[in-house]
Amino acid sequence: MNELLSLEDARAQVLAAIPAALPAEMVALSDSLGRVLAADVAAATDLPPWDNSAMDGYAIRARDVAGATEVAPVLLRVAGEVAAGSASETAVIPGLALRIATGAPMPPGADAVVAVEQTTPLAADGSAGERGREATGPLPARIRVHEATMPGRNVRRRASDLQLGRTVLGAGRAIGPAELAIIAAGSIARMAVHARPRVAVLSTGDELRGAGSALGAAGIPDSNGPALVALCAAAGAEAHHVGIAPDRLEPTLELLRSAVGDADLVIVSGGVSVGPYDVVRGAFAQVGTVDLWRAAIQPGKPFAFGTAPRGEHRPGPPVLLFGLPGNPVSVFVTFEVFVRPALRRLAGRTSDALLRPVDAAVLEEAVTKSIGRRAFLRVAALRDPATGAPVRDAAGRVRVALAGGQESHQLSALAAADGLAVVPESVAGLPAGAGVELWWLDRP
Ligand code: AMP
Ligand code: MG
Repeated sequence: MNELLSLEDARAQVLAAIPAALPAEMVALSDSLGRVLAADVAAATDLPPWDNSAMDGYAIRARDVAGATEVAPVLLRVAGEVAAGSASETAVIPGLALRIATGAPMPPGADAVVAVEQTTPLAADGSAGERGREATGPLPARIRVHEATMPGRNVRRRASDLQLGRTVLGAGRAIGPAELAIIAAGSIARMAVHARPRVAVLSTGDELRGAGSALGAAGIPDSNGPALVALCAAAGAEAHHVGIAPDRLEPTLELLRSAVGDADLVIVSGGVSVGPYDVVRGAFAQVGTVDLWRAAIQPGKPFAFGTAPRGEHRPGPPVLLFGLPGNPVSVFVTFEVFVRPALRRLAGRTSDALLRPVDAAVLEEAVTKSIGRRAFLRVAALRDPATGAPVRDAAGRVRVALAGGQESHQLSALAAADGLAVVPESVAGLPAGAGVELWWLDRP
């Protein structure tokens, strides 16, 4: 078995096995959330497509109201109105105004909009209505304008947001709600995105039973299978659990072969040590190449990584094979450290977006760990009882405490944790008050 491999070296080897993201496919706007653009998208329209009003008010010529003040308003005749969704054919000539709704196209001749609040409506008989009367009431015959303005005031210029033919978002951008909004605003109905990684999850162990099944004298529930499917889904992949393999080579190999034929990435949990029942490494070796690593992380060693050739009818990088340790907390940590970045690269994320953003935390209590391995402690943030917000110290560090027992089978601490606190290889522990890196985990 190899020497302890640093986390960075191990992760670099994983990423080096992914020369390119998955191939592109065209999707409709409504299916694009969470995907990563495989090509730049260009605006199919100017936005706004035409000059329009930023206010409910009156489209006017700024020159006509040059001298208007509160006590000496200027009188304009109201020649009609422009509603959102209609374009006016009436031009605003000297002395005229057109009532206009927010977002309606500017009529020809007008160069500014005066807000309805700065006007007083006059009926045909000359009687004055309420100052700033709502813009939807009966159309007045004339208005008094109480303030001077400038050309362009309250006008949203054509193409001031997006320009026809220009790039709206570049290749490599992940699509969240704001990205989806601007793509829709650019009138783009379909776009090229990278395929979503397809993951096959396989649990191994004679002791494993599906949740809800009788456990008998020596059975335990399979938690890694459902957990890995969920972790993959949260990372934007499409995962399914292909089953539980007993601790024998043939059935493990059979499930692995069918998984490799169909998936971009295969995750097997359990059976990666070097005991007589640890058959995963042998199975990987029969479908591709494999390395067994003792990564210098806690929890998490040992760990198997390999690749298998992808069928010729399926273009893309080789199928990635991950053999994670069986202990449930080791599964979470090794997924975070190695598998999630690989899934993000397959999905088209750029190198600067593969890892979680790191926050700073301060330990509320002393912690211990193995020297020579980087520890990922399950910690909970202290929270403000009124707002639920994490509490930070004067230096801005999140105050964290251990979320429970730190052994690698203890899922209760993981379920109570907000994140992972990272303690370096060089120390056997840290005192209360020590600063650590914090990786926030996805919470529902
Ligand atoms: P292994 O890596 O196969 O030696 O397993 C290490 C520990 O993890 C053992 O206590 C296993 O019972 C447990 N384990 C392995 N796979 C699972 C699983 N899918 N769900 C829950 N515990 C598991
Ligand atoms: Mg096992």
